[in-house]
Parts: sequence; structure tokens; C-alpha cells
Amino acid sequence: MIFRKPRQQPSKPAVAAHNRRVVVDHNVCYFCGACVAVCPPDSIFLENTHLFIDDETCTRCERCTDMCPVHALKMVEVGEWKLPTMSS
Ligand code: SF4
Ligand code: SF4
Repeated sequence: MIFRKPRQQPSKPAVAAHNRRVVVDHNVCYFCGACVAVCPPDSIFLENTHLFIDDETCTRCERCTDMCPVHALKMVEVGEWKLPTMSS
């Protein structure tokens, strides 16, 4: 007899995951590390005063965006987010 682990349903549609990414507002983030602690695949890296998110391993679960006390993390559509320009 073969036993198989029941397949888990993804919380978000896979196709949507590829169209979105988490971005951080470094003007707001105060590097508390709360988002790092809740990220299941360890996709967030905090280095001194810089926060990096690994898009390759991020599953777009949005735990970090929900957790951030100052709303410095945001899930955006790919292409929606642009670097601030000198005039903005
Ligand atoms: S939880 Fe928010 S303020 Fe804290 S390190 Fe993460 S992005 Fe920055
Ligand atoms: S969306 Fe989820 S997997 Fe991606 S960085 Fe945030 S907590 Fe980690």
C-alpha cells in the first residue's frame, strides 16, 4: 500500500505570484527585523541599513507586508513600481 502526503493548496494562484513582487520603502523602514523573522523561505536579508528581498525564493505569501509596523513593505504588480527620480 502506498501512502502519499496530501497535496497542499497554494494560498495564492501561482500565476499571480509571478506577476507580483515585494518592494521596500527605505525611507520608512527602520530595520527592526520583524519581516525577516516571519518570512517562511528566508527571502528577506537585513544588512546594516539595507533590506533585500530575494524574488527567486519569495512565495508572495504577504506575511512580511502584513507584519511591518510602519507599512514599509508593499506587494506590487511587476512593472508598477519605479525607482524615485531626482525630480520626485
Ligand atoms: S518589518 Fe518593516 S520596518 Fe521592520 S525591517 Fe521589515 S520592512 Fe523594515
Ligand atoms: S511575501 Fe512571504 S515569502 Fe515573500 S518576502 Fe514576504 S514573507 Fe517572505
